[in-house]
Amino acid sequence: MNNVTEMFGCMVFDDRVMKANLPTDIYRSLKKTIDEGSRLDTKVADAVATAMKDWAIANGATHFTHWFQPLTGVTAEKHDSFITPAPDGRVIMDFSGKELIKGEPDASSFPSGGLRATFEARGYTAWDPTSFAFIKDKTLCIPTAFCSYGGEALDKKTPLLRSMEAINKQAMRILSLFGNADGVKCVRTSVGPEQEYFLVDKDMFEQRKDLKFTGRTLFGAKPPKGQELDDHYFGVIKPKVAEYMADLNEELWKLGILAKTEHNEVAPAQHELAPIYTTTNIATDHNQITMEIMQKVAAKHGLVCLLHEKPFAGVNGSGKHNNWSIATDTGVNLLTPGETPYENAQFLLFLCAVIKAVDDYQDLLRLSVATAGNDHRLGANEAPPAVVSMFLGDELTAVLDAIEKDAPYEGAEKTVMKLGVHVLPKFTRDTTDRNRTSPFAFTGNKFEFRMLGSSNSIACANIMLNAAVAESLKIYADRLEGADDFETALHEMIKKTIKDHKRIIFNGNGYDDAWIKEATEVRGLQNLRTTPDCMPELLNEKNVAMLTSHKVFSEAELKSRCDIMLENYCKTVIIEANTMVDMAEKEIIPAVEEYTAFLAESCSKKLMAVPELSLAYEKKQISKLSQLVDEMDASSEKLKIAIGEYSEFESIIPASRYIKDSILPKMETLRAAADEAETLTSEKYWPFPTYDKLLFGVK
Ligand code: ADP
Ligand code: MG
Repeated sequence: MNNVTEMFGCMVFDDRVMKANLPTDIYRSLKKTIDEGSRLDTKVADAVATAMKDWAIANGATHFTHWFQPLTGVTAEKHDSFITPAPDGRVIMDFSGKELIKGEPDASSFPSGGLRATFEARGYTAWDPTSFAFIKDKTLCIPTAFCSYGGEALDKKTPLLRSMEAINKQAMRILSLFGNADGVKCVRTSVGPEQEYFLVDKDMFEQRKDLKFTGRTLFGAKPPKGQELDDHYFGVIKPKVAEYMADLNEELWKLGILAKTEHNEVAPAQHELAPIYTTTNIATDHNQITMEIMQKVAAKHGLVCLLHEKPFAGVNGSGKHNNWSIATDTGVNLLTPGETPYENAQFLLFLCAVIKAVDDYQDLLRLSVATAGNDHRLGANEAPPAVVSMFLGDELTAVLDAIEKDAPYEGAEKTVMKLGVHVLPKFTRDTTDRNRTSPFAFTGNKFEFRMLGSSNSIACANIMLNAAVAESLKIYADRLEGADDFETALHEMIKKTIKDHKRIIFNGNGYDDAWIKEATEVRGLQNLRTTPDCMPELLNEKNVAMLTSHKVFSEAELKSRCDIMLENYCKTVIIEANTMVDMAEKEIIPAVEEYTAFLAESCSKKLMAVPELSLAYEKKQISKLSQLVDEMDASSEKLKIAIGEYSEFESIIPASRYIKDSILPKMETLRAAADEAETLTSEKYWPFPTYDKLLFGVK
């Protein structure tokens, strides 16, 4: 298939396929379920299941799976074939409505943070009809939510769908107040996630235990050339990479994923793919599939796709930009500055809702992107700092400033900015300023949340964002619905939001140290540097109250998530620490020993030839390398002891702090000695491919 339009979505049971393959009445009921969330009766489910199965088989599928997103952060699937025994001893291909709607995977091996005791191992998966089924590896994949029998969410999709419902409900109230709800069935958030990644040669990857076990290099001296020339960003794409990208696009298009933009990123071997935005839960499913397909396609090309946030020290790591907006099902983007003053009042209210949300729930946004991997990026002068702030651009900031002070707006039209119907001037949207250092930037008609790590599921960030904005909107709607004078109440509320929350707005350079000082010391913003610093905030009273009141999470679910995230952090670092010890003791130290032995041997040979030689070079190298071997050995011993001490912690919060304060620094010390040894050791002796080969090895 060469034609892109023909290829696009050919592996998806999408609207077009449904329409073509379902009886009209069945199609209509299914559509009602998709658009309005109405219940699906069994007759309809059976008919849909049969049509899905026939379509899947016609497209080469033999199995089906309920595809879900447990808290491991990756997707899970258990394949069942369609076969059912027939009376004649043969088989028929069968798939019922019941099997479509609900599955019962053994849930005991997925993290539940204590929500589901192992003896109550059953969990169930429930079909999310709003995200289309698709075929992957000859398997019909049905997007599902994953819950315990008590109804607690064990996955990322369930709370995401709940958060979308929460913001829908509150945004509809606001639209009604402005008289803009007519004909609008619902309000949805949309996301376009830009995905960064690295490509390395597969043979080289296989030679490095650190990459294989942890996804990042735990050792590696800086190569002579890194990213200092800025010659990779948007540079010409190398042939092998271009072939990879072409193949990747095709695979994604077949799955109905709107892969749109691709380019080289800042670091050597780093690239980016951006899809066209779509409804948040679908964008989330698509991003999970994208990450999986990126890795699969790489393998076919003799490459490995690294999605780790910091695969290489010394060059940029990889992130994900979550472009987010709110729109009605009729296609009105509520974050677009309007044509008329009145529309602008509604726009400003939504804008203020986001400002208030980001300020009130900085901690939730920060922790929604927290992982051991992302801790290496945030605040490292390559990604936004761990301090959350917002960029609005000069013009919008000036508009807000004028409103706050009831002062004349110094823009094109100089009028007092009152949010009454008459006097607010039209202002042009500010898309010229491309501030790249802000964690949360307004980019004309959407916000770009830039703190996500490349391997993060985007579900977590969007759950928090949707819920926090729903909370602002609820407070506004409560106030406005009870107001005697709508315009005055609106004006005052917007003013108050600006006054109370302007501290979160920062248009300057987010990478500047002076900003961190100002943010924390003058403005009182939170600087939650690492995962152990921020994750416990999930359980603070204000956050629990907000998230439970909008029914996004129950308190038990929050406790379990906090535990799971911290456990994941600890396990990740412990695996890294163990890998370092292994590599240092079994590979690096023996290699350096071999090289020093070679130097020593050549000393004696040289002496035999010319007895009066000083052998200054050899002596210097041997001494230095021997000293580094001693340092590596000592650091490795200390690290092993620390790993042993970690296993004695019983409670996860102190355990995670121990990891941060004791294990990570010891890993750095070990690395420093090994990296220095690398610079002094002959390349021939080094036991695995070095940075220069990894970063510049793909042609
Ligand atoms: P950048 O200049 O930040 O690299 P791009 O234009 O490459 O931005 O990508 C921006 C992303 O934002 C794309 O995925 C795009 O589909 C998405 N996007 C555009 N408009 C919206 C919107 N209204 N809501 C959500 N995402 C959007
Ligand atoms: Mg971007």
